[in-house]
Amino acid sequence: MKHVRGPLCTIDVGEQTSETERIDDLLESAIGGRALGTKLAHARIPFDADPLGADNNLYFATGPLQHATMSFTGRMSATGVSPLTDGLLSSNAGGFLSRNFTATGYSAVEITGASDDLVIVHVTDDGVSFEAVPELEEATVPETCAYIDDEHGLGSEHTVVVGPAGENEVRFASIMTSEERAFGRGGLGAVLGAKNVKAITFDGDSTREVDLPALQMEIHGEAAQSDSPMRDQGTTSVATYANMVEALPTRYFSELSYEHIDDISGDRVEEKKYKKGTCSACAFACKLPTKDEETGLETEGPEYETLMAFGSNSGVDDIVDVMKSNKLCDELGLDTISAGDVVAAYLASEDEFGDADLIHETVEKIAYRDGIGDTLAEGVARCHDELGVDNWSVKGMEFAAHDGRTLNGQGLAFATSNRGADHMYAEFYPYEYPLVDADDAFDKAGLENKPPKLVELENINAIKDSAVLCKFSRDFMTTERFETLLDADYEELLAIGSEVVALERHFNNQRGFDRADDTLPYEIPDFEQGLDEYYDERDWNDDGTVPASELETISETAPADD
Ligand code: SF4
Repeated sequence: MKHVRGPLCTIDVGEQTSETERIDDLLESAIGGRALGTKLAHARIPFDADPLGADNNLYFATGPLQHATMSFTGRMSATGVSPLTDGLLSSNAGGFLSRNFTATGYSAVEITGASDDLVIVHVTDDGVSFEAVPELEEATVPETCAYIDDEHGLGSEHTVVVGPAGENEVRFASIMTSEERAFGRGGLGAVLGAKNVKAITFDGDSTREVDLPALQMEIHGEAAQSDSPMRDQGTTSVATYANMVEALPTRYFSELSYEHIDDISGDRVEEKKYKKGTCSACAFACKLPTKDEETGLETEGPEYETLMAFGSNSGVDDIVDVMKSNKLCDELGLDTISAGDVVAAYLASEDEFGDADLIHETVEKIAYRDGIGDTLAEGVARCHDELGVDNWSVKGMEFAAHDGRTLNGQGLAFATSNRGADHMYAEFYPYEYPLVDADDAFDKAGLENKPPKLVELENINAIKDSAVLCKFSRDFMTTERFETLLDADYEELLAIGSEVVALERHFNNQRGFDRADDTLPYEIPDFEQGLDEYYDERDWNDDGTVPASELETISETAPADD
């Protein structure tokens, strides 16, 4: 089986020390990326760690496919305990960091402890150094990237950075890379901010080769020739269809379609797109650099989820206003989905849907924890009572679009996801719209035959996050191609994916998560029966916990505790 190569680099930012450690046995069983981060985190983070304390660790990891010259591989993974969900969580970002990370020669970097002073950590193949940067306190992401470029000659493709939101421990702060790409969901930016780490740079010349089959070039060629609408409109290409089938959350989830969709649709985004945008090595190039000629506003996106959160869900009908929200979140270091949903909750409480000035002012207040922003920075699950609105979250994470009230399989997927109401954990929605071949499609309504498919999707997505392969490769990947690319049986890969999901679940069980957390703020038909079938398919207990016997099998491959 193909796997990432290189030692683990552990960096204690409190002691300002670093050490490397060979983890070859672990790499053989973990592929890389999310599986590697999850196995390390499960073994090395105390089950009772404070997400914002020195005892929480953060893991950055690449996979074997970051050695490819293939499309869909410009991504990498980060893992830690989330201050938003309070559970173990991995987040995934595109952009151009992955190749520079790989060039350091490490398979993974572990950040431990907490610094007394604000620092930048410089990681190279020659060692690790620490730079005190008190002058960057509450600097925005572009300001921090400009400083690193000026002082060290390293562009933003070498960096991960937190904005004011991360420093101020906003529970849905992102870690930004390549300036406009985000490890977005779950607040890992607050974890780095709580460690007083403003940025980490990655630079080197020690890439370790991984032989990959010629299939990579076949897939690359198909991506370059593809006529997918995503190549013009990215994820926003689904917006009009999602609205038509009533799967687009609107005005803080009070409606399922938006009468102003034509003002914020994929067509409007495409009109503002002024050039191609991509990630490392990717010919599919689905990203969306946009510019509004009238105001001079430039950003990247909005993606579909941001159209929902800061568009329909906030009652906004001007694409430029959504672009501005998107840009503010990137500059301040905020996850656009959670930030938009939290702002929508505030607008619902004030009956002020559609007030773009109030929205932009509120986003800034959240990042600096100013006034009402301090309340909203805690996330919907923690502040909805004070606002007097419903709690639209699962396990503390605000909802992505693709509404489960219409797409019932995606609804079950939101409930079972170890990281809460996120659409990319299983990605059931393409099978219900449907965006897949008719043979693979499901009816939107009900859960019949869906739990086994949900388990397969969660497992194979864990493999994509470990390889690391972009989820938007789905039209290009078959069972046989997974096997050829990673030199493993599909069933073997699914088993590794299943271990990742079980380790996350077991870690979270130790923190009190069980069946009661696999829940939704709305009803879908036969939900409890669907949940039973899901647990059966996983061989888990019917209270949503992982049996000790399953963990014993997995732990044989996990590293021993320090
Ligand atoms: S498909 Fe899009 S998000 Fe995925 S690697 Fe390519 S450009 Fe990046």
